[in-house]
Amino acid sequence: MSRKRRTKLGLTMLAVLIGLGVAPMTNANASATPFARNRWPKPRVTYVIKGASYDRRVYHAAVKAWNRTGQFKFVAGTAAHHQVTLSTSNATTGEYYHLAGITFTTGYPNGYYTKAKVLLLTRNLRAYRYSYSNEVHVAEHELGHSMGLQHSKDKHSVMLADNRYNGISKADVAAVKLRYRLPVGEL
Ligand SMILES: [Zn+2]
Repeated sequence: MSRKRRTKLGLTMLAVLIGLGVAPMTNANASATPFARNRWPKPRVTYVIKGASYDRRVYHAAVKAWNRTGQFKFVAGTAAHHQVTLSTSNATTGEYYHLAGITFTTGYPNGYYTKAKVLLLTRNLRAYRYSYSNEVHVAEHELGHSMGLQHSKDKHSVMLADNRYNGISKADVAAVKLRYRLPVGEL
């Protein structure tokens, strides 16, 4: 009944920022990774992975990379009980046109996320010849959105809008740490 908000954040395939849900950078440091006013109640969510074994491997690697940072924990959920769905789509048209991945979040009006859905757009990833590690970086980027991170202008950030080469940076980890120390709604 209180699920109202739906925001979209995409990862562009080319160096074109489509500007979906990109908020102004308000962190003091110019190279700091920006984050949304929204977040999960705790830096811990349950997830399920759907897709072919290759894509599941990509998602597992990305989950592991974020869990290793110690600032956020993705815990395997069940079909009946999970907060985040990690899945794939072959769509290439409309809002999916030349995106590598996309994340949808649903939340309470008070700013807490209730659900997130991440899609790797597998047909585009193949068409643009993304390697396995490129795909892991896309998954890490989308998981970043699912936690509340936004696009960074820092060329080393995993949250760079057209990222396919960067893993999780120190600034990205610091942003997650800060996001979950600050109350929801505060930047
Ligand atoms: Zn993005």
